[in-house]
Parts: sequence; C-alpha cells; structure tokens
Amino acid sequence: MSLPKLAELFEEPSCEHNAKKEKAGCPKPTPGKVGGGCTFDGAYSSLVPIADAAHIVHGPIGCLGNAWNNRGSLSSGPLLYRQAFTTRFLNNDVVFGGEKKLYNAIKEIIAQYAPPAVFVYQTCVTAMIGDDLGALSKALEQKTGVPVIPVQAPGFTGNKNLGNRLAGEAVLKKVIGTQEPKTEYPFNINLIGEFNIAGEFWYVAPLLDQMGVRLICSLSGDARYHQVAMMHKANLNMMVCSRALLNVARSMEEKYGIPWFEGSFYGAQNTTEALLTIAKFFKNPELLERTETMIAQEMASIEPELSAIKERLKGKKVLLYTGGVKSWSLVGALQELGMGVVATGAKKSTEEDKQRIRELMGENAVLIDDGSPGNLLKLYHEKGASCLMAGGRNQYTAVKGRIPFVHVNQERDAAFAGYKGFLDLARQLDKAIHSPAFALSKLPFTLRPLS
Ligand code: SF4
Repeated sequence: MSLPKLAELFEEPSCEHNAKKEKAGCPKPTPGKVGGGCTFDGAYSSLVPIADAAHIVHGPIGCLGNAWNNRGSLSSGPLLYRQAFTTRFLNNDVVFGGEKKLYNAIKEIIAQYAPPAVFVYQTCVTAMIGDDLGALSKALEQKTGVPVIPVQAPGFTGNKNLGNRLAGEAVLKKVIGTQEPKTEYPFNINLIGEFNIAGEFWYVAPLLDQMGVRLICSLSGDARYHQVAMMHKANLNMMVCSRALLNVARSMEEKYGIPWFEGSFYGAQNTTEALLTIAKFFKNPELLERTETMIAQEMASIEPELSAIKERLKGKKVLLYTGGVKSWSLVGALQELGMGVVATGAKKSTEEDKQRIRELMGENAVLIDDGSPGNLLKLYHEKGASCLMAGGRNQYTAVKGRIPFVHVNQERDAAFAGYKGFLDLARQLDKAIHSPAFALSKLPFTLRPLS
C-alpha cells in the first residue's frame, strides 16, 4: 500500500475526527503500546468471518496466535475460516525471504481445500523484509484461477481501526464487483460491520426475509465469498453500529452510487428504526405494510416476558464499558429496559457517537477514558451501579470486585441483536443482577476447625 493511500485512510472523510478544519486522523501507533490489537489484528478480524474462504497469515506464529479465534463470529455452513493457516516465519525465512514458502503454502491450501478464494495477510516481519504479496497473489491467481487477495495491513502501520479500513480497501479493490447475482430483485441491501457475534445476525436475517428484502451480503458475519463479490448490486448499505468499515460504505456510494445509513439492531427501538428506514427507502407501500405488521408481531411475541424482566430491572444502574464502538446503541437499549447507565466507555467512540451518548444520557454523562480495573470498580461503587457490562478482559475485574457482570464484546456467547436478542440481553442482565452468588460472596469468610 502506497503512503498517500495510507494517509487517506488515516483521514477517512466520513469519520467525524476529520470533519473539522484541522483533521485529527486516526490515532497514530505508540511504540510499545499495542493494547486493543494491532493493524493486522483489525484487518484479520474484519475479514475472517468470510466463512468459505481460506485465510493465511504470512508471518511468525505469534501473529496468528494472537488473532485466531478471538471473536465469536459464527458460520451457518462452511468452517474453513476457522482453520489457522500461517507460513510460520522462522529465522531462516527472515534471512532468505518467505515468498517461496507462501507460494507453496497457498498452492497446497487450494489443492487440499478448494476454497473460492484465499485471503493472505501481511504482518510486520514480512512487510519489513519486503515480501511482495501483490505480485505473488497475481502470479498465484493466474496459475490456479482462484482469487488470491492480499491484505496489506502489517501491525506497525497503525491501530486496529486502521486495520479494519485496510481490510475494507482489500475487498473494495479486489472482490466487490467481480460477480453478478443470478437473478434480479427490486429490494437489495448489504449490512456492513455486522460480524455475527454469537450468532446475532441470525436474529436479524429472518426479519429481512419476512420484510421481503434480499440481503446480498453481511460484511462479514456468516458471509460467503461470492456474496462479498456481489455487494455492488445492493440498492442500500446499512452500517451496523460500528464504524469499522466506514470506508467501504463511503467508497461504494462514490463508485456505485449506493446510499448508506448508520443504524443499530441493539434494542427493540433501534431495531424498529433500522427496519423502518430500510422499508421506507424502497418507497413501496406493500413492503412498508409488511414491515410494520412484522414489527408489531415481533414486539407482541417478546412483550410478556420482557415486561416481567423490566419490572425486576427497573431503577437498576449499569456501568457500561465497551471501548466505545457500541456504546450509543447499547445505552439506548439499556434505557429502553428502564435501567440507568451511570457511565460508559467512549475511548474508541467518534465525536458523533459521543454526541449521541450525551443526548441519551444528558450533558453530565460520564464518558470513561481510563478503563483500568481500579477506576472501573471505583466508578461502579461511587455511582451505585448494579452491574458491570464490559468486554472479556474485565470479567476478572468483576470477579475480583465480586460484582455482577455481563459480557458485551466480541468473545461473548449471547446474541443481543434484533427483538429476540433484546430479550436475551434482558435475561442476561436479570440473571447476573439477581444471582445469589454475589450476596454470598460478600459474607465474611471464616475457617471452621476440622472436627
Ligand atoms: S502484525 Fe506486528 S504488531 Fe501485529 S501481532 Fe504480528 S508482530 Fe505483533
């Protein structure tokens, strides 16, 4: 990737950091600090959910070891994406170069697994010694007839967000627009930034089916390669919460004239709003009527259990620490349950996200920048919270503090999207907050003498 292109990605025009006269750009990497994942990790986690493709990491085993299987993205079919392919770079490869090893590895993968495509990821060491992924991919593609897509996102380039964007660039350049659907259909959409964590996309896809909207591709949760290749045939793109792949939506608008909007499937209100936005976009009265009827039925199906849980959760407060990307939509979902949000993480939130959070929580909203365990527990007790909702690494903070915890990030095993996901979220909170374990854990501990 040339330097001017990298500079463009740092200053993605649709990102609020860059809306001001003085562009802030994405945060630059700080030597020695890779907390939150490196660029390669961002690119790998963005594309790995493309389930029928092979994904090979060109670098030392540690790069793949850090990134492999650290997201709960599920597939309804092929499982090739779960195979951990790497060239496993060793000292000799650094001296003599690794292109031959990579070439043979990809040829072997194609011969053994017959994938529709191979994604090959550059890492720090292989980028520094100058292995040419672009030329190698082209040669392999010509020889085998299988698309080989280079993802040029070595870890030293920037942060995880930049890695997401570089992954977006790779599919924009080499995949999107290379295949055509077999049939025409009037209502087509893509979901961008939906990763099917814990299978939550499967709570959303049936809703789109019932509406009569064809989902061409969910980038990249439970996606297949040919779906990504046909994304240019959508009439509308929806950015799902996270702005990870914002450059894909913006570039598709510029290149193919496909408009996009940002929405969320967390919370019944957000889900309703997103589905109605899609239905209204197509200006088809029957589609809109079907959507409204379906929304009413879905709401009616969750209402009895939801009301009972809401009663038990009324007035309880949550300390939310998601790292930022999902904060505004989760704040809305929690408030819809009648709960208070005492503070929320905003480290990775855009200015627009922060404004939305302030609108929801009020101008005095506490936006957490210091997510250290000590600070989280201090805030939790100071603000009288009843539950900590955070990513996996903070479950140990909750265990040490003996407080209720609900897992909210990519490794979780509960799905929160759509109407059924909203009910699941309510159940998880109810179970955590009303578990007798926390009261018992605070009882004084006494050792009884052996009798
Ligand atoms: S790509 Fe670089 S920063 Fe990322 S895991 Fe590998 S060596 Fe570390």
